Amino acid sequence: MSRRRCNVRASKWVLTGLGLVCLAIWAYAATHWVGVRYPGWSIKFSTGAFHFNLYRRVLSKSSGPPNWSHQRMPLQIEIMPWTYGVFWGQQYRGYVAVHMPLWIPFAATALPACLLWRLDRRRYPKGHCRKCGYNLTGNVSGRCPECGEAI
Ligand SMILES: [Zn+2]
Repeated sequence: MSRRRCNVRASKWVLTGLGLVCLAIWAYAATHWVGVRYPGWSIKFSTGAFHFNLYRRVLSKSSGPPNWSHQRMPLQIEIMPWTYGVFWGQQYRGYVAVHMPLWIPFAATALPACLLWRLDRRRYPKGHCRKCGYNLTGNVSGRCPECGEAI
């Protein structure tokens, strides 16, 4: 097997694995609410997205252990690529929120993975070993001298 093909095959599997991990996190975030809240900021996974909130002014001065939350939610998937802005809440005078829908990391790994699967399936030209691509012109043994594949 050529070195380049070997690299394609390795990256193909790495990207496929990463894509599946991203898909699992995305699916989990679409059906759950998981988050941790500190007095000045919070992160959470919900509605199929990653959320980071920065509270500009904390009205309640309570400090203490972070407030972990985890619960099942009905399926909800955020599609909008980026939302960013200052929002007004009951508890806070305005906070900065950054959302990243989790289809983005999924697409960023799954699309190149699909490409590599296609690339890896591409056949070698006629007259070459279909396994390793070795040029078999003039070969009469019926076996590839490079990898031993039957012709
Ligand atoms: Zn071969």
